[in-house]
Amino acid sequence: MLGIETSCDETAASVVVRDESGRGRIRSNVVRSQLDEHAAFGGVVPELAARAHVEWLDHIIAQAMDEAGLALDEVDAIAATAGPGLIGGVLVGLTTAKALAASLGKPLLAVNHLEGHALTARLTDGVAFPYLMLLVSGGHSQFVLVRGVGDYERWGGTIDDALGEAFDKVAKLLSLGHPGGPAVERIARSGDPKRFKFPRPLLREERLDFSFSGLKTAVRLQAEALAPLSDQDVADIAASFQAAVTDIVATRSRQALERFKAEFGGAPAQLVVAGGVAANQEISAALRAVVAEIGARLVVPPIALCTDNGAMIAWAGAERLALGAHDKLDVAARPRWPLDTPDMKVNSDAA
Ligand code: ATP
Ligand code: MG
Ligand code: FE
Repeated sequence: MLGIETSCDETAASVVVRDESGRGRIRSNVVRSQLDEHAAFGGVVPELAARAHVEWLDHIIAQAMDEAGLALDEVDAIAATAGPGLIGGVLVGLTTAKALAASLGKPLLAVNHLEGHALTARLTDGVAFPYLMLLVSGGHSQFVLVRGVGDYERWGGTIDDALGEAFDKVAKLLSLGHPGGPAVERIARSGDPKRFKFPRPLLREERLDFSFSGLKTAVRLQAEALAPLSDQDVADIAASFQAAVTDIVATRSRQALERFKAEFGGAPAQLVVAGGVAANQEISAALRAVVAEIGARLVVPPIALCTDNGAMIAWAGAERLALGAHDKLDVAARPRWPLDTPDMKVNSDAA
C-alpha cells in the first residue's frame, strides 16, 4: 500500500506491507516537514502549506518508492488522507492519489487522518481490538474507543484548544518559538513545577472532556504580572504549566480506563497514545504511572509514527482494503470528518 499524507504541514509518503496474518511492515516512510516555511508566521499558513505540498509531493512519493525498492505499478492500492485537515493540502494529496489510482488501475482508499492515528498501534505493536486511544496533537485532543476498523466511539475531548495548541500558545507568549511543545518541555526541566498553581479546568466534573484555553489565559496573566520575566520565571511558568496539563491528562486517562474496564470486563484495558504531544516525557511518565496503578497496558508508538506520516495512512488503507473496502474516484476531500460517523464503517460507501 502506498500512503499519502498532506493534511497539515507534513508532505509524506510511505509504502507499507500488511501480510495475511495482519502484521504490518514499513518498507519506506518519507516525511518532509514544512516547519521552516511557516516558522516566520508562528503557525501553519494554509495557502503556503498547500503550495509546498504541490511542489514536493511527487518527489516524496518517488523517494518512498525508491526506498521501498518498488515501482509504482507494483503497489496493490493507493491510500491518501481525505480529511480532516487543511482543505488545500488534502486536495493535493487526494487528487494525486486519484490520478495514480486511475492511471495504474489500482484501488483508491480515501483515509480519515484520525483513523490513521487510531490504527497505528496495530502496525507498530499489533494491538488487538478493543482499545482506548488518547489522541493529543496540534489539532486534536480526544479519547476514542476503537472497537474495530471503521468502528469508533468518541468518549470526550477538548471543548476549546487542543493540547499541542496550548503548548504552542504558551511557548509563543513566553517567546520560546514554534513548535512550542518541545521548547516548553526543554525549558521546563530547569523550572519549578510547584511555583505556580495553575487551574485544572473541568477536572472536578465526571465527563471525559478537556478545556485548555482558561489555563492558557492563567499562564498569560501570570506572565504579565511578573513582566519583565527572568529566565527562571520563564522556566518556572513552563514547568508549572506542564505540571497542570500532565495532571489533567493523567487524571482523565485514569477515568477513561476505569470506564473501559467497566464496559469491557473481559478484555485487557489498553491505552494507545497518538499525536505529537506523545513525545512529552512528563506526560508519558504520568501515563505509565496510571496504567501501572490500575493494571492496564500503555502503548506509545515511536514518536515518528505518532506525528503525521504516510505510514499511518498506508496502514489504515491496508486494513480497510483487507476488509474489502475501497473508494470511488469521485470521493470528496473533507475539511471536517469526525471518526464517530456512520460513513466510517467499512463498505458503507465502497465503490
Ligand atoms: P493534527 O495531526 O491534529 O492535524 P499537528 O500536525 O499539528 O495536528 P502533530 O504533528 O501530531 O500535530 O503534533 C504537533 C504538536 O505536538 C504541536 O502542537 C507540538 O507543540 C506538540 N508537541 C511536539 N512535541 C511535544 C512535546 N515534547 N511536548 C508537548 N507537545 C509537543
Ligand atoms: Mg504536524
Ligand atoms: Fe495528525
